[in-house]
Amino acid sequence: MIMMVADILKALGIGYRLQLNSLGDQNCMPSYRENLVAFIDTCGDNICDDCQRRKSTNPIRVLDCKNEKCQHLYVKAPKLINQLCVGCQSDFNTLKSILDDHAISYEIDTNLVRGLDYYSKTAFEFVSDNIGSQSAIAGGGRYDRLIEFLDGKPTPAVGFAIGIERLLELIVMPQPVRNGYYLGAMDIESLPIILKTAEKYRQTDTAVVEYEAKTLKNHLKGADRIHARYCVVIGENERMSNSIWIKDLVEQKETTLSLNAIIKGQ
Ligand SMILES: [Zn+2]
Ligand SMILES: [Zn+2]
Repeated sequence: MIMMVADILKALGIGYRLQLNSLGDQNCMPSYRENLVAFIDTCGDNICDDCQRRKSTNPIRVLDCKNEKCQHLYVKAPKLINQLCVGCQSDFNTLKSILDDHAISYEIDTNLVRGLDYYSKTAFEFVSDNIGSQSAIAGGGRYDRLIEFLDGKPTPAVGFAIGIERLLELIVMPQPVRNGYYLGAMDIESLPIILKTAEKYRQTDTAVVEYEAKTLKNHLKGADRIHARYCVVIGENERMSNSIWIKDLVEQKETTLSLNAIIKGQ
C-alpha cells in the first residue's frame, strides 16, 4: 500500500518524504505506555496544558504535540521503536527491507503516532515540504483491532487516506503549447474561402477548419479549445475586401491580410 501511494505521487510529479513508525501491538504497547507516563511525570509542570490532560486520557498523543517547549522535552522520551516485541520488530524489519528493495527512501519518525487504541504496528505519512511546514499529503497504516472494537471477528486491516485538496496545490499541470491555425467562417458564403485558405496553410503547418458558420467570439473560443496559435476568421466584410482577419493568440495581436497574398504565398 505504501508502494502504491508512492507510485501515485510519482505519477503526479509530486515530491515527498516518507515517514514511518511502528505503534506496536497488545504485547508491547501497554508496557511502553507505562514507561511513557512515568517519563511525562518527570516533566512536571514544564509541559503544556494539553499534554497534562493527555497524560491521563491518551498519553501516546503527547508525542505529536505541536508545542516547541514540549517537543524539546520529549526528545528524551522513551521510544516505542526501541521496545517492540519480537513479532512487531520482525514485521517492521520486513517492511523496511521491502522498501529498501524498491528504492523507496524513508525516515523513522518516532513522533508519528495515532490517538486510538485500534491502530497497531505500521503507521506512515507522506509529507511535502512545498505546502506550509511539513504538511502530510497522505497517511495510513494498520488498524488491526478496529473490527474487534466494533464487536466483529478479529480482522487485521490496513488503509490510507490522501488529502485531495493538498495534492491539487502540488500538481503542476503542463501548459499546452499553442501552435497551428484554426480557421472559421462567420457566414456560410465565406466557408469556401476558409477551405482554400486552410489548404494553403496546411502546406507548412497544421490547420483545423470549423465547418459551421459562427460568431467571431465563438471562433475565438474554438481556437482556444484546440490550443491553436492563430485564429483566422472570414466574414462578410473580409469577403468584400478580399482579405482575412487573423489573430495571434500568443502575442494577442490582430491583423487583416490580403487574401491574394496568402493564396499566392506572398
Ligand atoms: Zn504539549
Ligand atoms: Zn509488539
